[in-house]
Amino acid sequence: MRHVVSYAYHEVLNPATGQVVERVRATTAAEVDEAVALAAQAQRAWSAASPADRARLLRRFAAVVDGHLEELAQLEVREAGHTIGNARWEAGNVRDLLDFAAGGVERLSGRQIPVAGGLDITILEPLGVIGVIAPWNFPMPIAAWATAPALAAGNAVLLKPAETTPLTALRLAGLALEAGLPEHLFQVLPGAGGEAGNALVEHPGVAKIVFTGSTRVGKQIMEKSAALVKRVTLELGGKSPNIVFADSDLEAAVAATPMSFLDNSGQDCCARTRILVQSSVYDRFLDLLAPAIESIVVGDPADENTQMGPLISQAQLDRVRAYVPDEPKGIRGSAPDGPGFWFPPTVLTDLAPDAPAACEEVFGPVAVVLPFDDEADAIRLANATEYGLSGSIWTRDIGRAIRVSRAVAAGNLSVNSHSSVRYSTPFGGYKQSGLGRELGPDALTAFTETKNVFISTEA
Ligand code: NAD
Repeated sequence: MRHVVSYAYHEVLNPATGQVVERVRATTAAEVDEAVALAAQAQRAWSAASPADRARLLRRFAAVVDGHLEELAQLEVREAGHTIGNARWEAGNVRDLLDFAAGGVERLSGRQIPVAGGLDITILEPLGVIGVIAPWNFPMPIAAWATAPALAAGNAVLLKPAETTPLTALRLAGLALEAGLPEHLFQVLPGAGGEAGNALVEHPGVAKIVFTGSTRVGKQIMEKSAALVKRVTLELGGKSPNIVFADSDLEAAVAATPMSFLDNSGQDCCARTRILVQSSVYDRFLDLLAPAIESIVVGDPADENTQMGPLISQAQLDRVRAYVPDEPKGIRGSAPDGPGFWFPPTVLTDLAPDAPAACEEVFGPVAVVLPFDDEADAIRLANATEYGLSGSIWTRDIGRAIRVSRAVAAGNLSVNSHSSVRYSTPFGGYKQSGLGRELGPDALTAFTETKNVFISTEA
């Protein structure tokens, strides 16, 4: 009798229209098993290849991505609703990450440590097969943050994209083969978190999990990984402050505020969604902010003039709506109605600091404004959260900028700017925003194990 297997499929919807873009078959746990075995085989050959050859192949991968930037960007607009400008930047970021990681392959050196009676060296060895579990909010860059350095350090990568956004990841796997990367070294396994994702977490052949997503799922993954003492890097949620002091260039602070929480429709772990403003300039700040929010162009993400697109899904729209009262106090922008998952830019005022919208991650175009009295009060409010991912400090006083940067418990701060992420600088969270760091000069080291070898000179 023939054994009939029925597979699950995920529908990828265009968030701007609600229309189906593609149906993608979900990877089963048994297929994850097969993928791990093939990846382990490919990894052995890859780590044995000369560093110069590995670097050359990664540069070629970067060049092939560069040749497909527009295609990848258009795909991101269709599956994730990102504005075309952002999507182009994201595709370029994948190319840059591959180039940056390729530059590290031949510089990944151990150390020679002075000891008595011999020679002591450390060797940085690849971990083996790395499982990367990515979210839907920045499908391309976040997949590449882990994939590029992991491959560069001599590992194989199994990438599980989010259910809603597998298409750019699948295309990147095709481009890797086109560039000449060995078969099975970088595989994309679309599927459900609870099945394909969980199979990676529980598989003894997967040496490390790099998870980016919600704090809730991150905790479950950490707990399950403990059973195997599996390495984890966790990039989780955020509720980041934007601290505006009265001594700042207020016009500049206001001008930068809208996109600090509206970029990617607020579906950004670094979104500055708690706007803390010194009481003496609070009213003036809101007066200046209102026209800036009201004039944000929300609409078709494929249009070059659009500043903000839709939310990813109906579920996300429902979640965001639940945080906003029917008649909110504050500032409201506009959004299209009709099909698609639209929510207007929203700034809430007159909320208690412990109101859900003021302390939980909304992951939508919603910020709260809270007044503070002095520097100590600003620091207290900024740190009054379980998260610690990023934050901004607006002041002209250099001493204050340094004091507050030291006092705010977050991994990525910016002064007089909202910048958070560069591939050349480290990124990651304090407290419940995560564990470990990605990107930056040490990105490759996070995918290695340090072996210490002592060679006696006395024998
Ligand atoms: P999510 O936790 O629901 O899902 C993330 C990924 O984990 C998806 O691929 C999903 O399929 C998978 N997953 C779900 N359950 C799983 C399980 N039991 N085992 C293994 N894998 C599982 O998060 P999301 O809603 O896709 O993403 C939004 C969240 O991501 C937000 O909280 C946001 O702050 C966070 N995020 C963090 C960063 C960062 O760098 N710190 C960056 C982007 C997004």
